[in-house]
Amino acid sequence: MRYIYGPVHSRRLGSSLGLSLTPHKLCDFDCVYCQLGKTFRKVLERKEYFKIEDILAEGHSWFVNNPEQAKALDFITISGSGEPTLNSGIGLLIESLKKTVAVPVAVITNSSLLGDPVVRRQILGANLIVPSLDAVTEEAFQKIDRPCPEIKLEEIIEGLVSLRKEFKGQIWLEVMLVKGINDNLAHTRRLKEVIERINPDKIQLNSPVRFTAEEGAEAVDAKHLEKIKELLGDKCEVI
Ligand code: SF4
Repeated sequence: MRYIYGPVHSRRLGSSLGLSLTPHKLCDFDCVYCQLGKTFRKVLERKEYFKIEDILAEGHSWFVNNPEQAKALDFITISGSGEPTLNSGIGLLIESLKKTVAVPVAVITNSSLLGDPVVRRQILGANLIVPSLDAVTEEAFQKIDRPCPEIKLEEIIEGLVSLRKEFKGQIWLEVMLVKGINDNLAHTRRLKEVIERINPDKIQLNSPVRFTAEEGAEAVDAKHLEKIKELLGDKCEVI
């Protein structure tokens, strides 16, 4: 299979079938914690990197050949090994999936393009959106996510605020905390203010996995994660 992976089992999404919309590590970020390794060439251009009709054809064949696994799916997850909203056909893909399969669709995104109303409109058909927001200061954003220079943190934050108003499904905001970069209490307080504006259904805290992160991307210890979770309030959980 070229575009499909899984089903993957996770505590967060249950049994989910993954769809990859981009070639390996095609991304506009170069996160210090990325499990896929370094982004050698950051890309901001949106285009149909993988043809949507090819992804749908492979998906159709998977559902025909795996009826029992298909029945047990909790989600079809659009994510993969790069940033899925860089594929300009994502809207058509979601629309087609909703017409043909009765499995909820989740989109996992780094949020980089959510300042663009066209991108937001294209993902409104999903049932669940899991956007990331690791940083709320420019310094932390540059250190942790290392975005394409054209990407502006303020536009991401305003995009998330707008998405909440436009999107009727669940938003689970993921925050990756890296020791010494975005785990201090001043950043947490600012993050809390921004999250109150975004108003997601859940806030999910994560910290890098030691064996996949690059040197310098250290995990936050469990006790400190719990403290940040408490500061961020009832909707927050550690995943
Ligand atoms: S956004 Fe995702 S794929 Fe891109 S560098 Fe960050 S973790 Fe890796």
